[in-house]
Amino acid sequence: MSCEVDLKAYVVGEVTRNERGVVEDHVRGCQSCREELDRLNLTRSMLASLEDEEIRAASPLCRTAYLSRAGGRLCGAPGR
Ligand SMILES: [Zn+2]
Repeated sequence: MSCEVDLKAYVVGEVTRNERGVVEDHVRGCQSCREELDRLNLTRSMLASLEDEEIRAASPLCRTAYLSRAGGRLCGAPGR
């Protein structure tokens, strides 16, 4: 059984408002997609913390530049 929703795109935010609504409606009624979505969200938060580790491991100068501009895009830091 497969569903027509793109959960990965939803999790990374690469969906239009319309598509987002479709996914949200679908997961409300579909347990397997809800579980998959939980799993993807978990993976994503693990990836996000890995990126934090990389920032910590970066050179002090680079790190300072990043910390002084929260959400900045220096040193390949993830933006929002
Ligand atoms: Zn589904």
